[in-house]
Amino acid sequence: MPGGLQHGLLTRTALDLLPSCFRLPAGERNALIEEYCLYPDMFFSLDKSVYEKILPYTFIKDGIQFHYPPNTPIEKLYRYWLPVPDEGRLEKSRPFSNDNFLHVKDGFTFYLDHIAACFAAKNYSDGAKFAGCLLHMLEDACFGAHSIEGPLGTDIFVLERLFERRDDELNRTPLGILASLDCSRIEPVEYQPRLLGESVSEIVMHLYAAYAESVAVSRRICFSIVQNVYQNNQGENAGLVQRMFANAAKICADALFSVWCVAKQRFDASADLREVCLTRLEPHAFPLGGSGGYHFLSYLKNIAVGGNMKRIPLQLRLDNEVVSFDRGLSWGSHFEASLLYWLPDNTYSVFDAAIGLHPDSIDELSGVRIRLINDGKEVDEFDFEAGRPATRIAIDHPRGDFGFTISYLPGAPHRNSIIVVGDPMLRK
Ligand SMILES: [Zn+2]
Repeated sequence: MPGGLQHGLLTRTALDLLPSCFRLPAGERNALIEEYCLYPDMFFSLDKSVYEKILPYTFIKDGIQFHYPPNTPIEKLYRYWLPVPDEGRLEKSRPFSNDNFLHVKDGFTFYLDHIAACFAAKNYSDGAKFAGCLLHMLEDACFGAHSIEGPLGTDIFVLERLFERRDDELNRTPLGILASLDCSRIEPVEYQPRLLGESVSEIVMHLYAAYAESVAVSRRICFSIVQNVYQNNQGENAGLVQRMFANAAKICADALFSVWCVAKQRFDASADLREVCLTRLEPHAFPLGGSGGYHFLSYLKNIAVGGNMKRIPLQLRLDNEVVSFDRGLSWGSHFEASLLYWLPDNTYSVFDAAIGLHPDSIDELSGVRIRLINDGKEVDEFDFEAGRPATRIAIDHPRGDFGFTISYLPGAPHRNSIIVVGDPMLRK
């Protein structure tokens, strides 16, 4: 919940992290710091001339301004099941649609498209205004109380319900504490911005993952800040505010750096983008509350968990040999579950991985069907059981909605099967 001063400070810090070849003219730089990065708040002013000035730079979808995006409705992933007795299975009764992802993906695309086009045409005035709106949204999401909302988030008042109210100190409720964070002693941030993509759509994919991660980091910091005040450990909060400030400034710098690279078609730092492990991306649909050790978990990165809740290595039995993977994903089986990502068009030539059931979770009743999804369509289907526990796969031109859906084989019972995807790599 940054105020005007904090937005200006975050925007200035992000701009200062950019290399000198990506500098705005002084007038536009100052206007971006002092005015344009406040546009999403000024939009509420009710002054008609202000409204008309800012409207062209405002992305609105389904009645929602690109400012405080919808939350991910994760309850639909785990809560609503109904039995289908004739088929011996449960089915999800509420379709899941990731409102946060759909809104933010379109908003990122709108702003990055406009900023790149304006900067390429040296129209720095309009480019800086679009940039101000994008930075403001990222700053709100990653600094202060709004990090409670958004990707995997919930309503902002949840902290008021989780912490006991002190009726003699109503100005020091959780939101009161988070609305008055002291940025007066913020120290300079040292960071080299990352290139997130060589096209706007590739940036959108990586920026969404960075946004989800940055919000998650700041959300945990906000919780610690409030807890420190309640436990009289306020002295530790200055360091936490500094960490959260740096966290927000870095994602702003990454977004600006990347869109400048697209505008100028300069991709000196692109080596890291040639091969991307799925663990670096943020799925828009994911399993939650699977079987066995995954009962209270989603998918896990680079490890698996046994039924006793102990960490186990990521493994598959391939060609009668147990193979371990340093990188990959695991989740618990269920009657229905999906792990889906969104990939940009015309970016990757192939996806390859090994998929199947973890050797520790197979018995004679195991039976799981994994369907591969590419561009929103089923492109292949594999049945895994004791006699065929895993296989290697490759998909040409992975793009669009991409990933895995799982179910049990017809007639197979609910088992504690562990789904493993080893070395899931997207290659250009
Ligand atoms: Zn705001």
